[in-house]
Amino acid sequence: MTAVRPTVAEVDLDAIRDNVRTLSAAAGGADVCAVVKADGYGHGAVPVARAAVEAGATWLAVALVEEGEELRAAGLEAPILLLSEPPPSGIDRLVAADLTPTLYSRRFGAALDEAGRRRGAPVTVHVKADTGMGRVGIPEDDWEGFLGALGGWDGLHVGALWTHLARADEPALGTTRDQLDRFERFLDLAGRCGIDPPLVHAANSAATLAHPRAHRRLVRTGIAMYGLSPNVGEVEAAPVGLRPALRLVTEVAFAKRVEAGTPVSYGHTWQAPRAGWVATLPVGYADGVPRRASNRLEFLVGGRRVAQVGNVCMDQTLVWCDDQEPSPGEEVVLIGAQGDERVRVEEWAEAAGTITYEIATGLTRRVPRTYR
Ligand SMILES: *Cc1c(COP(=O)(O)O)cnc(C)c1O
Repeated sequence: MTAVRPTVAEVDLDAIRDNVRTLSAAAGGADVCAVVKADGYGHGAVPVARAAVEAGATWLAVALVEEGEELRAAGLEAPILLLSEPPPSGIDRLVAADLTPTLYSRRFGAALDEAGRRRGAPVTVHVKADTGMGRVGIPEDDWEGFLGALGGWDGLHVGALWTHLARADEPALGTTRDQLDRFERFLDLAGRCGIDPPLVHAANSAATLAHPRAHRRLVRTGIAMYGLSPNVGEVEAAPVGLRPALRLVTEVAFAKRVEAGTPVSYGHTWQAPRAGWVATLPVGYADGVPRRASNRLEFLVGGRRVAQVGNVCMDQTLVWCDDQEPSPGEEVVLIGAQGDERVRVEEWAEAAGTITYEIATGLTRRVPRTYR
């Protein structure tokens, strides 16, 4: 059914395709693993995955078994990496969906080994070392022990060794260099145990853009594939030719002329500085406009920037149009281009005191996605 509401997230799949090619080139021709967890960072996992594969991505990656199943159900056939271990109870489902699990715990390894033996064909795993992210991965003091234990699991086949970087988006620091040094030690230890898989990977988007040493043969790119910056002011998407894929648009729902000093919205946190026009938009924090960015955002009306004013409400948001009279039904761009102007997700992230990732994944189900 077509939507009644005029608030829509438009996703430009050409931008995704171009970005995949740009990222592969930035990584010296490395293969791209398109990270489409969290519904493709809010852009829609299935359409983004299809576009990425069309543009040459050889791998897909997700956080959850359910996310991998969704891609398989839509007919995607590329290998799908599961970025962290599910509970062992999820093993039958991940094997049935032909997902490639990440492995770093003995409990999960023993359960996967058992599953591989039962079906009479080893399960291919990507073994993950913690080199300093401190989240999930084989802890450094267990690298030798774990690599030794792998030899006893006939139900498993090691398809890759990998790690994840904690501060690749802060290129001036030495943290990434130190992590990559530790990773090389892990790879050496594995080699000495006879584990030398064809695939090794370490780079996320920030490392793809800022740390050539992390590239290897495969880069796991999420945020940059959507044309968004890993870290505003530090590692940015636009200067390397990455284009944002997302446009968030709505229409003026209601317009009124107010006197100087007229307060608007809950809490009356803003008052008109002079007589002028205020427009009400049918989009709010339940759609993903961060309430904590109230009075700090700008949107586009008639190709011009207008200030978002008053507290963002659950379903509605106001803008100050000053002496420019808005017409009900007129297009308003919250994110993306209108005429020569553009509002970037990066601005929203700054205004909300967060990162582009949280803005993109914060767009809720209530906002219909359309694809170009
Ligand atoms: C989410 C994730 C990525 C992608 O990170 P971006 O910064 O979005 O490129 C890569 N690797 C792992 C382990 C992840 O969890």
